Amino acid sequence: MLTPNKQYQELKDTYLFNTIYRKTDEYRQSHPDKKIYLMGVGDVSRPLCEAVIQALHQAVEDQATMQNFQGYMPERGAAELREAISAYYRRYHVAISPNEIFISSGACDDLGDILELFAKDNTVLVLEPAYPEYVDTNILAGRKVVHLNSGEENGFLPAPPADITADIIYICSPNNPTGAAFDREKLQAWVDYANAQGAVILFDAAYEVFISDPSVPHSIYEIEGADTCAIEICSLSKMAGFTGTRLGYTVVPEALIRMEMNLNTMWARNRETRTNGVSYILQKGAAAVFTPEGYAQTRQDIQVYQKNARMLMDAFDQAGIWYTGGKNSPYIWIKCPDGMGGWEFFDYLLQKIQVVGIPGEGFGACGKGYFRFSAFGDPADTEAAAGLLCKLLGKAEMAEGASQK
Ligand code: PLP
Repeated sequence: MLTPNKQYQELKDTYLFNTIYRKTDEYRQSHPDKKIYLMGVGDVSRPLCEAVIQALHQAVEDQATMQNFQGYMPERGAAELREAISAYYRRYHVAISPNEIFISSGACDDLGDILELFAKDNTVLVLEPAYPEYVDTNILAGRKVVHLNSGEENGFLPAPPADITADIIYICSPNNPTGAAFDREKLQAWVDYANAQGAVILFDAAYEVFISDPSVPHSIYEIEGADTCAIEICSLSKMAGFTGTRLGYTVVPEALIRMEMNLNTMWARNRETRTNGVSYILQKGAAAVFTPEGYAQTRQDIQVYQKNARMLMDAFDQAGIWYTGGKNSPYIWIKCPDGMGGWEFFDYLLQKIQVVGIPGEGFGACGKGYFRFSAFGDPADTEAAAGLLCKLLGKAEMAEGASQK
């Protein structure tokens, strides 16, 4: 009889997000007159920009003509798109050849698939709090996962541990959920650590476009030595509103070699075997993101989200709440006031001001007592929610709230 992958039994259930939906829904049913502010969602709210829409329409037309019809795409992705991404990297003074770029259906897909490059007995180091996929995909594969906790003491930016060795290291910067971002010096320490032990860093750059601080690198390849130890996984989801459209890209340097095996060649072979690629239409739409018009238009949307983040940060500043993120990220990670746990704070906000966020424990044990807000919402709603949060969490109001706990 077939034996299923028993590792599925090792996964934590999706209790956190289901509970958020259930509690919010229950409140909505019992208070139909109240407006609920969904400030936890990590999905974008703005539509695709005009340049992308035009390119998508044009690509659909191409598929209708004998002359321009396109069948299977190259396994690494369309040359035009990979050239455009290579040019995008030059903006940050990083030389990545189109041959090192692989077009994907999004970061989520490649974060899972890329693990096929590594043996099952490798040890994985996950810097937590973290995007849950890093742990789950490795549990499914049966790998040993070591959790590296971070906290307020290091600004949720942990340094490489002297007493731990690992083969695969996950770094997400700017981070989901904390919004904290490694500067060059701190990232250099991780690159040196990985090179010293022959490890590979999986660098998740999904939120790179939100960086505003010049000391924060947009790509790990801005760091010396990264091309011999890092794979970078990127997405157009947050950069250009592609969460529902689906397109990303992964960089595997040609210099990345372990035990005389070239990971770039291996990944090309993997793609040939495992996928027939991303559709021509989507790759055309994605190429428009990297044109001057597409870049300018997507920047306008990012600025809307950045303004939302500013409103939330101002509210927490005024209320005297500790937080990180927001500056280089659409996420703001706050410390729950008065020692509340994440769920206690969730209920408190829902009941008092109908603002919904995400309890930090959903992103690893060290997220307990913290809470994630997202700046991806509608600006008017964000402004209203920020005002309510500021008023409620300001000292006098909190004292009143705390007495009702
Ligand atoms: N990586 C991080 C850190 C994310 O937060 C997300 C989505 O929220 C992803 C990857 C997945 O991105 P994609 O939509 O490209 O699959």
